[in-house]
Amino acid sequence: MTAQRHPDGPVVVVGSGLAGWSAVREFRKVDTATPVLMITADAGDFYAKPALSNALVQGKVPAQLVTTPAEKMVATLGVTLLQHTRVTGIDVQAQEVHTQSKGAFGYRQLVLATGAKAIRLSFMGNATNDVMSVNSLDDYAAFRAKLKPQARVLIIGAGLIGCEFANDLAASGHAVQVVDPGASPLASLLPQEASHALRESLAALGVRWHFGTSASSIDRVKDEDVVTFANGQTVVVDVVLSAVGLRADTALAQAAGIAAERGIVVNAQLQTTAPHVYALGDNTQYASESAGVSRTLPYVMPIMAAAKALAQTLVGTTTPVEFALMPVAIKTPALPLVVAPALPGTQGAWAKVEEGIWHFVDALGQVRGFVLSGAQTSRRAEQAKRVTA
Ligand SMILES: Cc1cc2nc3c(=O)[nH]c(=O)nc-3n(C[C@H](O)[C@H](O)[C@H](O)COP(=O)(O)OP(=O)(O)OC[C@H]3O[C@@H](n4cnc5c(N)ncnc54)[C@H](O)[C@@H]3O)c2cc1C
Repeated sequence: MTAQRHPDGPVVVVGSGLAGWSAVREFRKVDTATPVLMITADAGDFYAKPALSNALVQGKVPAQLVTTPAEKMVATLGVTLLQHTRVTGIDVQAQEVHTQSKGAFGYRQLVLATGAKAIRLSFMGNATNDVMSVNSLDDYAAFRAKLKPQARVLIIGAGLIGCEFANDLAASGHAVQVVDPGASPLASLLPQEASHALRESLAALGVRWHFGTSASSIDRVKDEDVVTFANGQTVVVDVVLSAVGLRADTALAQAAGIAAERGIVVNAQLQTTAPHVYALGDNTQYASESAGVSRTLPYVMPIMAAAKALAQTLVGTTTPVEFALMPVAIKTPALPLVVAPALPGTQGAWAKVEEGIWHFVDALGQVRGFVLSGAQTSRRAEQAKRVTA
């Protein structure tokens, strides 16, 4: 470890999403004295991102999703916040970050919590730029501004976020269609039977599925979007929402020479390949010593575990993060689901255990993951005990 160039400088946190604010909150539990500077490209308000995909049914407008305004976070946690300020570069030798408009800041330790970016597909036609995606409160406000009552919406992608939005939009009176090149919703996460049940449950709510094809061109004609699929079919809608996945935002780190693959590479202590620089959240590729694999974990629970461990490490008690099995609840009330995926690379097959419960079983007969549906979702704690890590 190199000597500190700014031993009296602040801990600088880049990003004010769940990862940035959780890191600060956990840090303040163990250190109330060290200055903390948070620099964020957005307003810095604290909101629960998962609420974006079920806010319509709950009757919430975007402003109501802010659980704690930035000023209150600042006052409670004793941080300095630079809002609407983009970090444009990191000098890992000088231990400084550079911003677009407010100069450079030295850091004693730097925490990168820059999240992920929505993947943008390119389409033919004149309306590619009208395609929306939702990965922040600002994106969501823009989406809601465009969404008229009973609007016709095409969702591109039948993954987790696509299915959650399909449920929320259909249940709140919108005419929803979903297009996906796969054969069924959430096909990579669910056993076939559960995927089929989700397809049926959302269809009963009014969702129209288009599987085995993809959107190839999007044209704005008068005030409608005309979308042509690869199979030649055409649909006419008011809004197109892309939900084809996220990619870790590693640009800042990579430009500074910090290693990144599917995310910013960190060791078990969340340290990047640069001294005094750490990362957590959707931008990060975690190493897990016990699991022996590295992976991105773009969910809430891993951020909580990472923030706790990081706080200890930042105050000098080097602490590795270990991720317990973290089942994810999929917010599709038409068919509630809980998914605890096996570690990436685990070989095995789905086995139905009883109605609404599937285990992912490896060659040794060990349970490595599970899926619960409907009323069985209440049994997640019990099922988690069956899993061999
Ligand atoms: C619709 C939706 C529903 C979800 N539902 C669930 C769920 O039910 N359960 C679950 O576990 N997970 C869910 N997730 C995932 C979960 O919300 C994310 O894993 C988590 O919110 C990511 O937080 P983050 O802080 O890493 O990233 P982000 O929230 O993306 O925050 C990144 C921050 O970095 C800032 N930033 C980026 N670059 C710069 C820069 N150069 N300079 C300054 N600031 C910068 C941004 O402005 C932002 O403040 C959902 C995600 C979505 C999109």
